[in-house]
Amino acid sequence: MFAYWGKILRVNLTNGTVKEEHFGEEFAKKWLGTRGFGIYYLLKEMDATVDPLSPENKIIYATGPLTGTTAPTGGRYMVITKSPLTGYIAMANSGGFFGAELKFAGWDAIIVEGASDHPVYLYINDESVELRDASHLWGKTSTETEEVLKEEIGDKRIRVALIGPAGENLVRFAAVMNDEHRAAGRGGVGAVMGSKKLKAIVVRGHKRVEVADRAKFTSVVKEKTDKLRNDPTAGGGLPKYGTAVLVNIINQNGLYPTRNFQYSQFEYAEEQSGEAMAAKYLIRNKPCYACPIGCGRVNKLPTTGVTEGPEYESIWALGAHNGINDLASIIEANHWADEYGMDTISLGGTLATAMELYEKGLLKQEDLGEEAPPFRWGNTEVLHYYIEKIAKREGFGDKLAEGGYRLAEMYGHTEYFMGVKKQELPAYDPRGAEGHGLGYATNNRGGCHIKQYMISPEILGYPYKMDPHDIGDEKVKMVILFQDLTALIDAAGLCVFTTFGLGADDYRDMLNAALGWDLSTEEYLKIGERIWNAERLFNLRAGLDPLKEDTLPKRLLEEPVRNGPNKGHVVRLHLMLPKYYKFRGWTEDGKITEEKMKELGIGEL
Ligand code: SF4
Repeated sequence: MFAYWGKILRVNLTNGTVKEEHFGEEFAKKWLGTRGFGIYYLLKEMDATVDPLSPENKIIYATGPLTGTTAPTGGRYMVITKSPLTGYIAMANSGGFFGAELKFAGWDAIIVEGASDHPVYLYINDESVELRDASHLWGKTSTETEEVLKEEIGDKRIRVALIGPAGENLVRFAAVMNDEHRAAGRGGVGAVMGSKKLKAIVVRGHKRVEVADRAKFTSVVKEKTDKLRNDPTAGGGLPKYGTAVLVNIINQNGLYPTRNFQYSQFEYAEEQSGEAMAAKYLIRNKPCYACPIGCGRVNKLPTTGVTEGPEYESIWALGAHNGINDLASIIEANHWADEYGMDTISLGGTLATAMELYEKGLLKQEDLGEEAPPFRWGNTEVLHYYIEKIAKREGFGDKLAEGGYRLAEMYGHTEYFMGVKKQELPAYDPRGAEGHGLGYATNNRGGCHIKQYMISPEILGYPYKMDPHDIGDEKVKMVILFQDLTALIDAAGLCVFTTFGLGADDYRDMLNAALGWDLSTEEYLKIGERIWNAERLFNLRAGLDPLKEDTLPKRLLEEPVRNGPNKGHVVRLHLMLPKYYKFRGWTEDGKITEEKMKELGIGEL
């Protein structure tokens, strides 16, 4: 087998054992990598109804076949587990260098099960694997933890995936951080690590990933890299302004959710745009492993000094979503969210829920305590004050640490929670891109944009421009295609930003050259479909009620947009959802049929 080692590391934290397991080509061809491997093991080995924060939950860190190769953006890994935020599947991926290093160490994936009774970290140095005490690291931030580990191990080139205090304290939207500022952010995967008392995974590898035909692979990679470099977004906007290049574009198109989606345009958007950030704070770009795009930002502030980020989503979540316009405060808040280890989208969404509860008089100052800053739109003090409080679950921070849905539920008003399946929505108002709304509603991990980025066709024109308010068959089929294609790209170990410039055939070319296989584009997309359906199967087993939960917040279905180019629009989900189920080959109530499971070969799981 090429591009894989065929090796999985299984770690049991309850009894402190580590062992090596193997897989063959048949398995690889069926599940490809990352999300595919993760969902296979969860379905096969775990009861989907387990408590996500109990030792019975498993957490899997998996690479793809192109992770650690020279394929453009080939450095991704994925964290797969049952989410403490949604109660359904979580698959959060991250770039940086950790994924590639894991591959260089000779492992395709790590399965962690059980729970330790004291803090530990896993140290992998090629074949040598050991669990070490991490009591001295407990309570430390991301940067502090990495620094101590580098010193202790005596190797500055180790790569670390870790949790900060938010993960330790089981904040339901805690992230797994790697390379200090890269996050496997969504779904609370960091809280699962925290529940297992696993502070970090440290990796150092010295191997090279072998591909089937080195010369062919090199030439295919060059061709695809050139395509990306010549694309106006992948080779232009993203390197120049980072993902924040989207702020002005999305705001101008009337999709920039403001004050908890009460408005769809933000009057101060320009002041928090990628252009503004580049002019004021940017020092340089920081690409992940093997990435020709380099969307990562390194900024400098007088307060925090040099830091990385924020991404478009974080700027919005900590900015317009809360009516906040001060870019320096947003950058600083993003820095601390990384240090404490939490997902900035859910953090911002939870704060915005609190803001609206406060605005409506449902949340009162006496609930917060006298010294706490009030949840007034635009109050940057809220960012400064609550991030640490949430991470440490202190005072009202303890309630916020439960996420926006549970917070709104405590006050009896879940209609002010802007999320899907208990996960906070990202930075696009779907009333201005209705296919994107269908994508949100049907996403296996709840409120999420990245697993079917319909903003591409509906707003940016990739692979071609679609009317954002068209809800016909073609649009619904495009949502399905984007979901399956993203599953494929993820499973391969690549970054989804490569879709700015590359199409399904390009991924086929790279995979075939690396693996020595001869699969068609359709066969690869079938792998994506298999993964999507398997994740859906997990959710159904975990108790998903599709007709109730494949939905959007009432506001987006019933309150027409107040201003801007989408004025008067809502998302007509009820017209798209039945078609979605039909085109997926599912039942009318959103369940997977026996035939579909048989067709995809997931029936036996
Ligand atoms: S495009 Fe950005 S996030 Fe994706 S691999 Fe490159 S630098 Fe990392």
